[in-house]
Amino acid sequence: MRMIDLIQKKKRGEALSKDEIDFIVQGYTSGQIPDYQVSALLMSIYFKGMNNEETAFLTLSLVNSGEQVDLSKIEGLKVDKHSTGGVGDKVSLIVIPLVASTGIPIAKLSGRGLGHTGGTIDKLESIEGFRTELSSEEFISNVNKYKMAIVGQSSNLTPADKKLYALRDVTATVDSIPLIASSIMSKKIASGADAIVLDVKVGSGAFMKSLEEAKELARVMVDIGKSLNRKTIAIITNMNQPLGHEVGNANEIKEAIDVLKGNGSNDETTVALTIASHMCVLGGAFQNFESAYDHLKQTIISGEAINKLKELITIQGGNADVVNHTKMLPQAKHHIKVTATSSGYVEAVNAEKIGISAMLLGAGRKTKEEKIDYAAGITVIKKIGDRVEVDDDLCILHTNCDLYDEAKSLALSAYTLSSEKPEPVKYIYEVIQ
Ligand code: URA
Repeated sequence: MRMIDLIQKKKRGEALSKDEIDFIVQGYTSGQIPDYQVSALLMSIYFKGMNNEETAFLTLSLVNSGEQVDLSKIEGLKVDKHSTGGVGDKVSLIVIPLVASTGIPIAKLSGRGLGHTGGTIDKLESIEGFRTELSSEEFISNVNKYKMAIVGQSSNLTPADKKLYALRDVTATVDSIPLIASSIMSKKIASGADAIVLDVKVGSGAFMKSLEEAKELARVMVDIGKSLNRKTIAIITNMNQPLGHEVGNANEIKEAIDVLKGNGSNDETTVALTIASHMCVLGGAFQNFESAYDHLKQTIISGEAINKLKELITIQGGNADVVNHTKMLPQAKHHIKVTATSSGYVEAVNAEKIGISAMLLGAGRKTKEEKIDYAAGITVIKKIGDRVEVDDDLCILHTNCDLYDEAKSLALSAYTLSSEKPEPVKYIYEVIQ
């Protein structure tokens, strides 16, 4: 087989076979096929696409490029979730204790964040002592005993995806649906999940800016999951403004605590309960979505949900007192108010701008090597539909940096006000199964 023939084939819009895809992925991972040929292929895929069968072959080839997590020693059906990424997205922190409280095992491998804000692992590390590296024995034993554990994703998982993603990043080929779908699904499958709930975000703070694109991505990922014998469902959720009120790391932990105590905002609580309920149904704990949703709401009211979070913190080495004393979380030196310069109703809060502003304050990484400041972040006070008068606080920036003018003007520019009250925001658009 010659790479140039495969590039030609894809350039003409023909489908690649399983062997051809394996040849490309293995050759690229081992360094035998150079970047320039894979770049040409990626651009051909960008323009000509891939059919469902090719996308599933690519996913499997990425899975087989590295280690696969063996969860066979965990009893029961392992259900995982994945978010395509959003601003203020702390859903995993809420969902893990909620779902585990129903007896479904959650063996979570999670990433660190790059860009906007931290990933789930970074957020948890803002709790003093919380260990995100566990031996595989401890990980498996915690899931069997407590029904939950979370660790940082090993660097040996899907190495081909890492290499390809880095190349896509510099060849303007990230936003190709078969490439995104195979990249995401390969990591979920290599992580050992039997069933997967995908939170596909759409809007200003998401990869997918239109509902049509989000639906297509969701459809392709669900089909990949099914063709590889994983129960898979996708929920399309709104990312046209940050989720909840907190964007950052320590402050997102605080908000997750609020949700689990029943004091969360409507959007954050609804999205988290929706994802968790679908996980419970896929995991077989409930017959239908409604009964799972009602039960999980009850665990919040009864205190079971917050107690399960305390248990997670304790078994992973953190001090669970943080749940009742959130001031124990890292606190920033400066709290800067961003105030309205005109009056009206909030029509939009550009989530991407809020995310980048939070990153400038220290809450995210511009490069892989950068350290996160857990205390940095933004409290989004006014959200879509809220009435605003001149000088009202729109949001509050938290930072230890002494220079924050750029972050402040970016956060202000995220807000669009209008004289008309906008339509109420939908939190969940669609379920694809
Ligand atoms: N997230 C991933 O893991 N891969 C992509 O290609 C895009 C988002």
